[in-house]
Amino acid sequence: MKILLVDDARSVVQVMTSRLASYGYDVAHAANGQEAVEAFAASAPDLVLMDIEMPVMNGFEACNRIRALEATRQWAWTPIIFLTSSDTVENLVTAIEAGGDDFMSKFVPEPVLNAKMKAMSRIAALRASLSMANQRLLDLASQDGLTGLCNRRSMDVRTDQLWLEAVARGKPFGLLMLDIDNFKKYNDHYGHQSGDDCLRSVALAIDEVVRQANTQGLSSGAFVARYGGEEFAVVVPNTAALPLRTLAQGIVKTVSHLAVVHEKNENWGHVTISAGGAQLESAAGPLVSLFRQADARLYQAKHLGRNQAVLQG
Ligand code: GH3
Ligand code: MG
Ligand code: MG
Ligand code: MG
Repeated sequence: MKILLVDDARSVVQVMTSRLASYGYDVAHAANGQEAVEAFAASAPDLVLMDIEMPVMNGFEACNRIRALEATRQWAWTPIIFLTSSDTVENLVTAIEAGGDDFMSKFVPEPVLNAKMKAMSRIAALRASLSMANQRLLDLASQDGLTGLCNRRSMDVRTDQLWLEAVARGKPFGLLMLDIDNFKKYNDHYGHQSGDDCLRSVALAIDEVVRQANTQGLSSGAFVARYGGEEFAVVVPNTAALPLRTLAQGIVKTVSHLAVVHEKNENWGHVTISAGGAQLESAAGPLVSLFRQADARLYQAKHLGRNQAVLQG
């Protein structure tokens, strides 16, 4: 457990730190409320022990600011225990109303301190497991169950965000819509289960191409989503270095080179994909028109015989 101990009195800090360290806790120190808020933001402790009377900023004010920080960053709540010299009823009421969870005398008997810290470390462990479970749920809610790619919902959220950034910076913004060719026939011929396997392989291959473009610095922040059924979308927020056409052709070629047998895909005999792409040079105009344009070009790619990318109208 990481404890942030806040007190301006050196003697109190020395005694408390050596006691807490002897129980095996990791103790950081701040000498006033201002320092406490900064240390809290930087190190996210599991527990704060906070003096009340301090120069620069008192403990109540620091507590308020920490609670405000937690709210903006959507952090889990962190217990704050006020350290007082006198445990009067007034002190207790004020401490709780200021957003504290408990209060404790600075001269607390050693066994009581030890016991309280044990209770607090149980809370810290609970918080850690809750936050892990929460993260796991967030991941699940944003992923497509079959392919592990971004799902449509999280793609929409991410795209809107990236779009706003691109508009603000006047950056180009690109989009590819991809659709597996004659996939209904694949399902009809090989069965739905094989269809699912095929979808997974194609998704993985597209993702790999996009990841490589990102790691090679050809694009930055580009990502793939399962748009629906056997359709995928690639959002390319900064297309400056990478012509969208190169990326689209790379994906079409990579899927073809997977050589997944598909006898009913006339002309090819293996699984292929078609792509339509559109780009706005300075992210001007509505995002929805970019989707419409990419979709129309995907339709064109299908008409021109499939297994190809169309990027101009
Ligand atoms: P086109 O080349 O014009 O795109 O033809 P298509 O057959 O690929 O297009 P169509 O829209 O007619 O069929 C899409 C098929 O994709 C139908 C549907 O059963 C299949 N499909 C969609 N989602 C899934 C899935 O999650 N698993 C499997 N196995 N099949 C899926
Ligand atoms: Mg003090
Ligand atoms: Mg389709
Ligand atoms: Mg299709």
